[in-house]
Amino acid sequence: MKASFPHMGCVTGYKKLLEKLGHEVIMPDPPSQKTMELGVKYSPEFICFPFKVMMGTYIECAQKGAELIVSSGGAGPCRAGMYPDVHQKVLQELGYNTRVVVFDSLFQDFHAFYEKVKIVKNGTPNYKLLGLAKFCYNLIKKMDKLEKRMKIMRAYEINQGDFSNAWKDIVKMFEKCETTREVNRTYKKALEIFDAVPCRKVEESQRIRVGIVGEIYVIMEPTVNKNVEEILNNLGVEVENVQYISDWVEHNIVPQWLPFPKSHRVFRMSDKVAPLNCGGHDKENMGWVYDFAKRGFDGVVHLMPFACLPELVNLGKFPAISKELNMPIMSLSLDEQMGEAHVKTRLEAFTDLIKSKHFAKQRSTIGDAIGLKAQSAARKVGSKAQEVKDNLAPAPHTPAKQLTK
Ligand code: SF4
Repeated sequence: MKASFPHMGCVTGYKKLLEKLGHEVIMPDPPSQKTMELGVKYSPEFICFPFKVMMGTYIECAQKGAELIVSSGGAGPCRAGMYPDVHQKVLQELGYNTRVVVFDSLFQDFHAFYEKVKIVKNGTPNYKLLGLAKFCYNLIKKMDKLEKRMKIMRAYEINQGDFSNAWKDIVKMFEKCETTREVNRTYKKALEIFDAVPCRKVEESQRIRVGIVGEIYVIMEPTVNKNVEEILNNLGVEVENVQYISDWVEHNIVPQWLPFPKSHRVFRMSDKVAPLNCGGHDKENMGWVYDFAKRGFDGVVHLMPFACLPELVNLGKFPAISKELNMPIMSLSLDEQMGEAHVKTRLEAFTDLIKSKHFAKQRSTIGDAIGLKAQSAARKVGSKAQEVKDNLAPAPHTPAKQLTK
């Protein structure tokens, strides 16, 4: 079958899995302005921005002949639960014979989950399917680890663009991997490539770190968020994004009551201010904000799609949370009209703010340390002076009678 998927961050894992299941893969293009306009044209007006971008991508894939589109989604109180049916209906009305299959957490309805697996596995026996899933999971896990590392190291590259170019080469290397051994070998080679990139040496105290939270699609797809992570890295800021595909898989496969992966613990960190999940990742995002503050991050960038209800709930809470945690949080609302220049200007201003806050805090810490040292030195000098004074004092008066004896 000719199969495709929405473009969402690094897509090598999806491509590999579908290829190994015997599908002919129709590669989706990264969403462009044209994709967004196409999506806006054929989507219900009230619906949230990711739906529209995905709609545009699905139409482009259907135009290229895709018969099957595989995606991940969510049920729950927000509009995520509407995505599969409405996308399917729009494609049908436009005359495309393309089937949309959306996977939810397997704990929600295992029977429905397995029915979808049967469509996608394309006759592959279950034992082989498990092996392929393991291979692809290892590949995406390794690629995600590298991407996380790049978003820290890129903040210190001497020649701008070195890491992004290296990453493009690394992705091509992973695309050629057919076995787990090749994936592991490529991972080691990729680490060497990163280590060879010339970087500035920066002391621990000089590192500026920002966390990225928000709706999963907009925080994972750089063309939709206008390259927020790369812009921040170019401003000398380390970035930690809370969503990667391997993390999403772990979060949805490992039972919630277990303490790992970390996202399960983080989910519970927001119980005080977000007792309910409004849909999407709003509760988890709130937990991550507390986690970033606990780890001493300098700020948080919150990316929310236009018309996203769960992130709108978070937006309303963030001013008070920011004050409570003494950590700046900047929210960016994204839609098809958002330009890169606007995002860049906002991020530059935010970076200036967090940098000045970071160094002011450091100066006051140094000032406090000097003050404490000075106080203790003064105390020591004072006690010494007292000692000297005591020694210099005339000896107690001796009666004359005693002297003549
Ligand atoms: S989380 Fe927000 S953007 Fe995503 S489906 Fe729900 S309402 Fe739409």
